[in-house]
Amino acid sequence: MFEKILINQDRLLSDIQSFGQIGALEGGGVARLALTDNDRLGRDELVRRMKALGLRVSIDPIGNIFGTRAGKTTATVMTGSHIDTVLTGGLYDGTYGVLAGLEVIAALNDARCMTEHSITVAAFTNEEGSRFQPDMLGSLVFAGGMSIEAARSTRDSAGVTLGAELDRIGYAGTGHGPEKIISYYELHIEQGPVLEDEKIQIGVVTGVQGISWTRLTVTGRSAHAGTTPMRSRVDAGLAAMELVTSLSATLKDVPDQLITCGSFRVVPDLVNVVPQRCVLTLDLRNPDEKLLLRAEECLSQTILDIETTYGVSIQTETLARFEPVPFDSCLIDRIENLARDNGYSTGRLCSGAGHDAQMIARLAPAAMIFVPSVNGLSHNIAELTLPDDLCRGTQVLLDAILSSVF
Ligand SMILES: [Zn+2]
Repeated sequence: MFEKILINQDRLLSDIQSFGQIGALEGGGVARLALTDNDRLGRDELVRRMKALGLRVSIDPIGNIFGTRAGKTTATVMTGSHIDTVLTGGLYDGTYGVLAGLEVIAALNDARCMTEHSITVAAFTNEEGSRFQPDMLGSLVFAGGMSIEAARSTRDSAGVTLGAELDRIGYAGTGHGPEKIISYYELHIEQGPVLEDEKIQIGVVTGVQGISWTRLTVTGRSAHAGTTPMRSRVDAGLAAMELVTSLSATLKDVPDQLITCGSFRVVPDLVNVVPQRCVLTLDLRNPDEKLLLRAEECLSQTILDIETTYGVSIQTETLARFEPVPFDSCLIDRIENLARDNGYSTGRLCSGAGHDAQMIARLAPAAMIFVPSVNGLSHNIAELTLPDDLCRGTQVLLDAILSSVF
């Protein structure tokens, strides 16, 4: 038997802190919005660290960065995540998974461990989607779900194309990612409160829930708020509110269903005018595709009901639609067993947020490991995962990778 290879905890923790200096915000947190100068600085540092570990670095045309430690075969076990952040992000979302991957490599180097298969650490472009939509764009392109031309022509809110920014920061590469991926493991902070609440040290992620985003435009008729009797109004605002509350009540019966009305704007937005129009968004999520379809049917029925009751007309536009992605059952079991072998408590959960792993799951068996987020906070400068949890997750990642490379 081999002696168990352990991660170097101090190195991991100091690597995470020092990387957090790139794009650091006053008062904590980081801003490395995709393809900005800060993102470039982060990429430069990542490439430097990869090369220092002896990895062969390849950058593909959408700017995904792959660092590979050669094994006897070119088939590779991949791990990774992203280093871009939201405008007021924390040190751990995404970056933790990438730097933990580098710690795995460093630990194997220290142990002079030669593996049968190669190991690749990846950092995917524009995972957050704060600047360019859709999110998870780099992994989506890598998985063949979007053309490089379409991705490059995506514009940010200032009208700048992703392609122009990629060229400007020097990360439109000519390389490519691995061709044969044996399995993909992504380590990530939970970004929610479940693990902490249930005192679970390692979250074994069973999949990513499905997402359905719709923009609705409710059109009525503006009128004087004082002179127009209620019966003669076509109130777009009231109709929209009723739509959201009524749908929300209906969906209480759909298991695990989430509904969010995150944007709600009335026109003309004046105190004494019956709204002529209301533009709102609905975010529906469910881990089960059949249930998500049922929720979407409820939405369609509610729209018809509201049109009839209020005399408004309602247009819909789909902004995003991703089916739930179940992860590989063998990898799920393996992560769970390896975590327990280390003496860590485990629990299974479905990811509420999207992750690069759901795109890579199109190419290879994939799974994710979650570690607790203090107070469930993420996309927040106060985002925190405790050192012991960071180390536990990285050790499980190392063990999972080792279980796949021989
Ligand atoms: Zn993330």
